[in-house]
Amino acid sequence: MRNFILSLASSLLLLSCGDPSNESIVNSTNNSNNSSATSIEDALHEHISILASDEYGGRAPATAGEELTINYLRDKFTALGAGPGNGDSYFQSVAVTELTTASDAILYLQGSDYEASFNYGEEMMVGTQQQIPYVTVQGSEVVFVGYGIVAPERNWNDYASVDVTDKTVIILVNDPGYATQDEGLFNGNAMTYYGRWTYKYEEAARQGAAAALIVHETGPAGYGWEVVSSSWSGPQIGLESENLNGDLNEIEGWLTLDSAEAIFEGAGLNYQELKAAAAQPGFEAVPLGDIQASVSIENSVRTSTSQNVIAAIPGSERPDETIIYTAHWDHLGINPEVEGDNIYNGAADNATGTAGLLILADMHMQQEQPERTIVFLAVTAEESGLLGSQWYAENPSYPIETTVANINMDNLNTFGRMRDVVVVGASSSELETYLEDAASSQDRYVTAEPNPERGYYYRSDHFNFAKVGIPALYAESGEDSVDNGREWGAAQAQEYTDNRYHAPGDEYDPNWDLSGAAEDIRMYFEIATRLANSSDFPEWFEGNEFKAIRDTSSSARQ
Ligand SMILES: [Zn+2]
Repeated sequence: MRNFILSLASSLLLLSCGDPSNESIVNSTNNSNNSSATSIEDALHEHISILASDEYGGRAPATAGEELTINYLRDKFTALGAGPGNGDSYFQSVAVTELTTASDAILYLQGSDYEASFNYGEEMMVGTQQQIPYVTVQGSEVVFVGYGIVAPERNWNDYASVDVTDKTVIILVNDPGYATQDEGLFNGNAMTYYGRWTYKYEEAARQGAAAALIVHETGPAGYGWEVVSSSWSGPQIGLESENLNGDLNEIEGWLTLDSAEAIFEGAGLNYQELKAAAAQPGFEAVPLGDIQASVSIENSVRTSTSQNVIAAIPGSERPDETIIYTAHWDHLGINPEVEGDNIYNGAADNATGTAGLLILADMHMQQEQPERTIVFLAVTAEESGLLGSQWYAENPSYPIETTVANINMDNLNTFGRMRDVVVVGASSSELETYLEDAASSQDRYVTAEPNPERGYYYRSDHFNFAKVGIPALYAESGEDSVDNGREWGAAQAQEYTDNRYHAPGDEYDPNWDLSGAAEDIRMYFEIATRLANSSDFPEWFEGNEFKAIRDTSSSARQ
């Protein structure tokens, strides 16, 4: 069925490619160069001003703002001549469930010589991904499993010596490389996926644990306790699950460092000593004496539906082989509890990247039909935990094993041209070689992100592609401003982080200098064009945590 649709679509495309009736914004202002920087900038301004307008209400999933957003994207893709990318539809339904945990939960710990309770909010945070109104864990044995990592390619298994079925595991955040700053352990200072908190829960669930509690420490987590307590309270959106996530831990949560130290002391153990031991190869999990944990939580459960928007330019030679651009269209919506301006317009985050998808579709439509299919995927619910991209990766419109690459855009540069290009998650895959080439053709240099220990690579949509093995590139303009120097560039970025990031102040400004964003877009265009007319499959570098899964899935390729 897919082949039929694709071949039908590609014959339509042959008719429409280069058809002057297509609504091209890219070449409308400059006839001599149909993807000139100026016209890209003009088009970016236009799309961003609309997507980030108050009328769009901050583009929260399952709101009137979503309707406006997804229809705008569908209409623009249609006008540009880029066809539907999910069979004969531009939309892919994403079913989401919203869970709100009551804030009165208490964690009890009891052993023969120790008894203590910990309050929700100040001393611990608990929640669940199980999509049911009541979850309870009673009298569950407690085990310290160090970093909670099973990494066969690194010969590391924190669960090797212990069966944690129905038990409560206590886990350290980040990974042994960060803890020791030893370049020979994991990626040294740079966080691997094994260091990310989401991984810790996934692994604990695979091991059959009933509850998984991560010890919060500000350094290795990359953020303070307030970020944990605020982001874990209130409604939590997850993908609707057929088994209601019954295979995941009953309870997921965090302990403050003080709480963890007290519990270890109660078991006659020293937290700091065991933490140091856990960073060394050969560490074995340690039961916390006869201490048992009990906790119950009540949830309100609500379901709703949101949409990913997918457009595609079918490949002429190898339509099943795809290059997928992503950008999340969603943002945080409206918060009625905020006084004054309470619309989170999300202009930079991520009306810019969403607009980038439309520009790129336009630019590719101006070219000869590519040999491989180029996909433009605007995903929903990134701000709720990368959910739209997760849904796509689990329900792909094109085969995973022949998806050549993902290029993600999240928060394009609004400060003008930069000399540097920053790779988030550097030294991951051969896509970085393509990036180097494209950047140097613009006289720019590529650098690694300055704070790889914070794990930004795992915090936007490309990560869900990496997780299923697809090489995924996430780069950004740096801070080395062509016109104003590095200090100025860093100050602009800092001002955004301090005052506008995830705040109502992330608004469109007609004075934005989008020349740097335009340059980045041309760089991605060059990479994708090269890949789309090649038969190469770029690979993960040796030692990367996603290489094994790609190697397995690529064996399904003909
Ligand atoms: Zn974003």
